[in-house]
Amino acid sequence: MREIVHLQVGQCGNQIGSKFWEVISEEHGIQKDGTFYPEDQSIADLQLERVNVYFSEAHGGRYVPRSVMIDLEPGTMNTIRAGEFGGLFKPDNFIFGNSGAGNNWAKGHYTEGAELIESVLDVIRKEGEACDCLQGFQMTHSIGGGTGSGLGTLLVSKLREEYPDRVIATYSVIPSPKVSDVVIEPYNATLSVHQLVENTDQTFCIDNEALYGICMRTLKMQSPSYGALNQLVSQTMAGVTTCLRFPGELNADLRKLAVNMIPFPRLHFFMSSFAPLSSTASAGYRSSHVAELTQQMFDPNNMMTACDPRHGRYLTCATVFRGKMSIREVEQQVMAMQTKNSSNFVEWIPNNVKTALCRIPPKGLKTSGTFIGNNTAIQDLFKRISEQFTVMFRRKAFLYWFTGEGMDEMEFTEAESNMNDLISEYQQYQEATVDGDEDTEGGDYDQQYDDSDAHTEL
Ligand code: GDP
Repeated sequence: MREIVHLQVGQCGNQIGSKFWEVISEEHGIQKDGTFYPEDQSIADLQLERVNVYFSEAHGGRYVPRSVMIDLEPGTMNTIRAGEFGGLFKPDNFIFGNSGAGNNWAKGHYTEGAELIESVLDVIRKEGEACDCLQGFQMTHSIGGGTGSGLGTLLVSKLREEYPDRVIATYSVIPSPKVSDVVIEPYNATLSVHQLVENTDQTFCIDNEALYGICMRTLKMQSPSYGALNQLVSQTMAGVTTCLRFPGELNADLRKLAVNMIPFPRLHFFMSSFAPLSSTASAGYRSSHVAELTQQMFDPNNMMTACDPRHGRYLTCATVFRGKMSIREVEQQVMAMQTKNSSNFVEWIPNNVKTALCRIPPKGLKTSGTFIGNNTAIQDLFKRISEQFTVMFRRKAFLYWFTGEGMDEMEFTEAESNMNDLISEYQQYQEATVDGDEDTEGGDYDQQYDDSDAHTEL
């Protein structure tokens, strides 16, 4: 069995992480007390076959999430523990400080976070040692605050050092002024992206700006709560991890997913979408057929990142359909979508759209679809953060909060230029053609990539 260790850091990380566990426990027939109790005997075997990827089995047949909960203040964890699913988690795996990070990346990464990191790593090591063959880690966090962003990225860099050959995936929540009014979030986010580019293998960008838009526009909510945003996140995470948790061939582990999705190591920031999405009022009028699902999965309005994929090009994508449907029809619909929008897919990676089908639908739906895309339009998200960063940094506004924790201004400059390099790299591959263009020196993409990488060495 190839296990995954899940980590959730900071308020947002813990909130979306625990929602993820609620959803997947239900999908695998695991009750709040950790016992397996299938509602439908006909799928019990499928529910259990790969349950060990995410759950450890304790004495007495109890399933325990392989999850480590981390924060610099106790509040969110107390809420999780006191909540309905609180008893599911291993009590030793809650690790928290009392200082808080005050939305300051420097506190999470250098000062307060550094004090907690060893006890975090101890617990992770124990989880790792108990695994038969650890495939890697997944972490949920936000990059706008202090703990998930600062301590989260510190943790990723330590894991990269200690487990260089294991895959590290993150679900990173990107800040938006529509959802949060903390002015220094662009600083925290840029410093985090600088780390994520170097140290993760794959990052699913979950953009609060997009989640907010979906809640307002599609789901017709008046003022969406974090609960509503997190509902979208957990549906997407459950969809994205379907191939890891249920039997099947395609993208069956984190490494295979990385191999299929990432043509160049730095370009590992994915957008994702989920279907069906509809307001409660119009749910009854929607069809959940393959054609409709496919159309929605590729619809810019369903993307969990506020970037329009039509403005960029897909390097690669993966689709995961769930429920009873024919694989032939699924493949035909996806192929038709690709043919219709062929200019939207780079022609220099043949077969860059992969399709998987899992018979078990998510709870409460007959069918669903999840989409993962590596699209060059993701640069718009980084541009948005970069613009917000630059206007403040030009005046060195709020910088004393960070230098007061011992940070050097140089790290800001480096982070800014690393993110700008990333934007240029996406742009360069967006423009690249099969025969090579003037920028790519005869179409030698690897060579081109290496050059730009060397250039960004800081
Ligand atoms: P930390 O505890 O220091 O890591 O700080 P937070 O996780 O609260 O980070 C603040 C950022 O996360 C802001 O951009 C918030 O909008 C966002 N955020 C906080 N909680 C949630 C949540 O439950 N869901 C979502 N989608 N975003 C959140």
